[in-house]
Amino acid sequence: MIIDAHTHYLNAGGITSVEPANFDPQPGHLYSVGIHPWHTQDVSNDTLQLLEQYARHPQVVAIGETGMDTLRGAPLDRQTELFEHHLQLAGRLGKPVVIHCVRTSQQVLAACRRLGVTVPRAIHGMRSNERVARPLIDAGFYLSFGPLFNPATVLATPRDRLLIETDDSGQSIAQVAAAIAPTLGLTAPSLQALATANLHHFLNCSS
Ligand SMILES: [Zn+2]
Repeated sequence: MIIDAHTHYLNAGGITSVEPANFDPQPGHLYSVGIHPWHTQDVSNDTLQLLEQYARHPQVVAIGETGMDTLRGAPLDRQTELFEHHLQLAGRLGKPVVIHCVRTSQQVLAACRRLGVTVPRAIHGMRSNERVARPLIDAGFYLSFGPLFNPATVLATPRDRLLIETDDSGQSIAQVAAAIAPTLGLTAPSLQALATANLHHFLNCSS
């Protein structure tokens, strides 16, 4: 049973997000593969070919993290191009997408709209306020919350589209669940059960 929607540490036991060059599948682990927006400078054709190849691997259950970030990485045009590349790949393979989105929710929404993306999409590490979150919620995105979260946004998220994650925090998923659960009026174990069910739905329903 997987609870943690997004982590960078294999031993966290969640969906481990790796760059194509670092994909080294270990038995019993699940992965997402993508080019992080911070690493969008100088992406070679070799990297894109690895992405293409590893995205098909049976232990790769999602594409990402991909997305856009105005504070780091390549110029936004290039980030957009690479994000769209990931979206198209995910669409072709029928795999969901894990999205890093910093001050780019409008651009992320526009790209998904432009390409008519129907595979499930999750904004990971969601910290934004409700005003930013609302259009993403309305567009059907899942929102994944980690140690830093906006309580009003957690409350505004439909219960069936709420995910939890440890990302690169080093915390356990139990600690993250315990931090978020009171906001929802839930116990930590019931939030873990809810997030597990949602994550399985996110992973299984391809378009
Ligand atoms: Zn991450």
